Amino acid sequence: MALHKFIKSEYDVVVVGAGPAGSTTAERCAEYGLSTLLLEKRQEIGAPVRCGEGVSQKNMDELGMKLPNHVWRQRILGAYVYAPNGKEIKIRGENTDGYILERKAFDKWLAENAAKKGAMVMTKATVNDLILDKVTDAGGKEIVTVKGVKANIGGDNFEIRSKVVVAADGVESMILRMAGIRSQKKLHLVDSAFQYLMTNIKNRDPEMIEIWLGEKITPRGYIWNFPKGQESGNVGIGVGGIWYGKTAKEFLDEWAHTQDWLKDGTVIETVCGLVPVGGLWKDMTGNGILGVGDAVNMVNPIHGGGIAESIFGGRIAGDIIGWAVKKDDVSKESLNVYNQRWEAERGQKLREIERVREMFEKLSDEEMNILAEVLSGEDLADLARGKNVVKLATLYTKFQAKRAASKIKSAVGV
Ligand SMILES: Cc1cc2nc3c(=O)[nH]c(=O)nc-3n(C[C@H](O)[C@H](O)[C@H](O)COP(=O)(O)OP(=O)(O)OC[C@H]3O[C@@H](n4cnc5c(N)ncnc54)[C@H](O)[C@@H]3O)c2cc1C
Repeated sequence: MALHKFIKSEYDVVVVGAGPAGSTTAERCAEYGLSTLLLEKRQEIGAPVRCGEGVSQKNMDELGMKLPNHVWRQRILGAYVYAPNGKEIKIRGENTDGYILERKAFDKWLAENAAKKGAMVMTKATVNDLILDKVTDAGGKEIVTVKGVKANIGGDNFEIRSKVVVAADGVESMILRMAGIRSQKKLHLVDSAFQYLMTNIKNRDPEMIEIWLGEKITPRGYIWNFPKGQESGNVGIGVGGIWYGKTAKEFLDEWAHTQDWLKDGTVIETVCGLVPVGGLWKDMTGNGILGVGDAVNMVNPIHGGGIAESIFGGRIAGDIIGWAVKKDDVSKESLNVYNQRWEAERGQKLREIERVREMFEKLSDEEMNILAEVLSGEDLADLARGKNVVKLATLYTKFQAKRAASKIKSAVGV
């Protein structure tokens, strides 16, 4: 049966991309009774995986999400963070627990939830272009309004009209650009990530994730092991988006060869992708369109986690679209409430975290070793949540003063 024959020529909402952002937005829109179409270009939702698959219990609680057993693989209770000199900080206590998901199952579960609320979900459905209405106002300015999408679904071309189009098309988003919205990402704010799903390895403790820091092994980033049982894990790296003389894979491979616990390991899946780690948007809307998730950099800038942020964003997007469609005003002015609500609920906090990352990325290995001596596990967990920034800022100012003093000394030859 050619299911795509059931696709209507008009919907209230078309959502492009069935990742966490798109499926959540579609679910919320359908809950408001809006006719909703969710289009995913891949043949299988959630595959191939481009993720370390870690989420915190705290975020799941805030979202009120109870994860069914089949969408996660490993329960996590805390983390070991290793400074460049090997000194470890153990983070374990209240609010340090979480899960390593199975994104192939998790993303499908989110899409199923959208479908259960009434959204129509289609795979092998690529949006190639937008239907745009262009008029020139009295001042000679061109006003663009998005009126729907042009998509290839299962080999056939469709023009589907909608009141709102949602760009949930991930980090490489093109949809906003098709609407004339400037959406290029700044290269230095996008990390390049590479990961092996390894098996036959010796995890130190499957209930603890591990993080390695150091500008030499992983400049402006970190190496991670997110265990999946005692003998498997997502072993990956993120490095800053400028060229450090080696690719992310080369950095990871070089480091992996120094790790005894990986020496019998084999690779059963290779993952690579980009992670926006900053550049949070102030304005994510146009006439009849808005962006959500990685498409508009909704990511925690310190650890690059975007799953929960995409779901927070998708819920807010769905609420605002539900409200705007009901009052029959999907203009940019009307959708601006989305920017305001996201800023109040998520944006402000993420901007604080971005400041922490900016400080961290300027630290030398030596300074990081000093930090590892003075910061507790609790301090580190707080910093990743944008709390207790003053403590880091004070230390950072001391480092800066020391650096400036040594520069002056060497300039005057003392
Ligand atoms: C190596 C790596 C490790 C990561 N680890 C973690 C982690 O441990 N924890 C965490 O929280 N986050 C992690 N992230 C980030 C996380 O994966 C993303 O933040 C999250 O997937 C964003 O969700 P999204 O729905 O915005 O985008 P995506 O999940 O990327 O979904 C976008 C979807 O849109 C589809 N699409 C794109 N263009 C079109 C089109 N034209 N037509 C139709 N469909 C289209 C894509 O196929 C895709 O399915 C990691 C990322 C990488 C690369």
